[in-house]
Amino acid sequence: MFHNRLIALALVAVSCLAIVAAPALAQRGGAGGAAAPDPVEKAVQLKPDLYYVPGAGANAVIRVTPEGLILIDTKNPGAEIAAALVEQIKSISNLPVKYVLNTHHHPDHTGNNQTFVAQGATVVGLEKMKQLMTTDQRTKDIAGPPTVTFPKDYSLKFGGATVDAHFYGASHTGGDTVVYMPDKRFIMVSDTVPVANPTPGIGFGGNGGSAVQVPGLLDSMLKLDWDVAIAGRGGPMTRAEVQAFKGKWDTFMTRVKDAVGKGATKETLMSQVKQDDLGWNFNAGFFGNLFDELQANPRGEPRL
Ligand SMILES: [Zn+2]
Repeated sequence: MFHNRLIALALVAVSCLAIVAAPALAQRGGAGGAAAPDPVEKAVQLKPDLYYVPGAGANAVIRVTPEGLILIDTKNPGAEIAAALVEQIKSISNLPVKYVLNTHHHPDHTGNNQTFVAQGATVVGLEKMKQLMTTDQRTKDIAGPPTVTFPKDYSLKFGGATVDAHFYGASHTGGDTVVYMPDKRFIMVSDTVPVANPTPGIGFGGNGGSAVQVPGLLDSMLKLDWDVAIAGRGGPMTRAEVQAFKGKWDTFMTRVKDAVGKGATKETLMSQVKQDDLGWNFNAGFFGNLFDELQANPRGEPRL
């Protein structure tokens, strides 16, 4: 049972990587084949009034307030998935979902926004995330893009809860949004921190993602006061786990900058940077994009 679950997680991880890699890194190989069975799972409590629902795409996070619910991410598109997600939400509270936040535009995070819009919810999102969602071939026809948008930071105060959204830099996509609940000491890091994939999923090209901005993004996350994090996939993470992931990025970027300083070119960079000891397997396309990024944004400043 546990073994099967691991296999399913690994398949989901591969398909998520494929989502990122498809337009920019076509040589990685198609994501064809049968989809892994990935049903909506039972809601799991993280803290009082705070839950997450795994399965069927990305984790969805639910914050309960006396005036209604705040939902972060809405899973893969599909009526059955939407109904199963609603069922899990109802198992937590009969109050309506009043706000939906999306942590990036990919379909496994935005797929059922419209279900909650139809029930009276308002979708809130980063302007850049909305722009990507409404132009990306994979999401432009998904209903329910954000109607309340913000350029960089947003603080939703509702039912006594505070739910903050921040753009700290691009990584998995150009619209990556960190959701922080200071009163719960909780953070949703989405796919900027991969749990199931060993290699980070950096979506270059049409995804608008970035490698050079990742260390700064992780740094900003770690400056917030939280003790539980949830990523797009997998279970709760501790600060130590996110810190360890940042440590890997710091090591990796130091090696990359050293190699470039010693004259590595776009073509040779990959062969001059050790990554297997980090458990990573970035391909030639990734290193080419990274080389270009370093020329354009050597300090890795957050850019929308
Ligand atoms: Zn994604």
